[in-house]
Amino acid sequence: MQIISGKEIAEKIIQTELIPRVDKLKKQNITPKLVVILIGEHPASASYVRQKEKFAKQAGIESEVRQFDETISEEEILSEIEKINEDSKIHGIIVQLPVPKHISVQKILRAIAPAKDVDGFTPENVGKLFLGEETLQSCTPKGIIRMIEESGEELTGKRVVVVGRSNIVGKPVAALCLNKNATVTVCHSKTKNLKKHLKTAEIVIVAVGRPEFIRGEDLPAGAVVIDVGIHRKEDGKLCGDVHFDSAKEVVSKISPVPGGVGPMTVVSLIENTVIAAESMNNKQ
Ligand code: NDP
Repeated sequence: MQIISGKEIAEKIIQTELIPRVDKLKKQNITPKLVVILIGEHPASASYVRQKEKFAKQAGIESEVRQFDETISEEEILSEIEKINEDSKIHGIIVQLPVPKHISVQKILRAIAPAKDVDGFTPENVGKLFLGEETLQSCTPKGIIRMIEESGEELTGKRVVVVGRSNIVGKPVAALCLNKNATVTVCHSKTKNLKKHLKTAEIVIVAVGRPEFIRGEDLPAGAVVIDVGIHRKEDGKLCGDVHFDSAKEVVSKISPVPGGVGPMTVVSLIENTVIAAESMNNKQ
């Protein structure tokens, strides 16, 4: 049984791919820069933002957090995004979700210039991802595909079952698997007999948002399992959507929580910022 360490793969990507690409840009007087907009106080968001800053620093890119009070109006945030869109020294912008209720997530995401949308959430980038065109791909799905491939798995012809159909994980990761020539089944809360579908899979991607929801006995022997979920248990420890201890007895490969999809998501964000800086440079 192989543990697919997202942490190790992310470190390798930073050292062998991102640092050389960033150095090349720096030689042309360009330092990729990411701006993270954080509205209000959320302990979980603050922790994600710290991880992003840490990876950015390791890769040699600049990152800046712009923190706003939760009473900020939608207009003020939209005008802040507009300013960043026009600032040629900034290559990537993300708005850390969730945002307060009086601010429309849709409006905010649509305001970000697609060329700087390093989270890959704007309709233009989502559309290109589904069309199989080159684009800034949404970070968690991009990271998942990379970790499957880095673990030595080929997606072509494989039966993939995705559990979850959210716009940020389930749907785009299913589209990316399809683009890679896998045969994809997407399951959700209205799916009948989830276990029957799971038993057909060679690769299972779980993004249900329920702690330890899928257990070893639900999985086919020898499957490759990617666990997207992240939850804090009562004892303070983190766990995923998959019950790791029972699953590891059955599967051939599994990603752990923590140290699995999380670091792959963050490294994909940093890579997207580098891609955005490279393509802005090429257009000049
Ligand atoms: P959502 O809550 O948006 O989506 C959950 C999906 O699971 C929905 O499609 C839902 O179906 C489906 N679902 C819920 N219950 C069942 C069930 N009983 N059987 C089958 N399907 C079910 O979650 P996200 O996709 O945003 O996130 C999923 C998990 O991944 C969360 O734990 C989140 O914290 C984590 N996450 C981790 C990231 C990382 O970087 N590590 C990044 C993003 C998310 P329906 O559509 O019918 O409601």
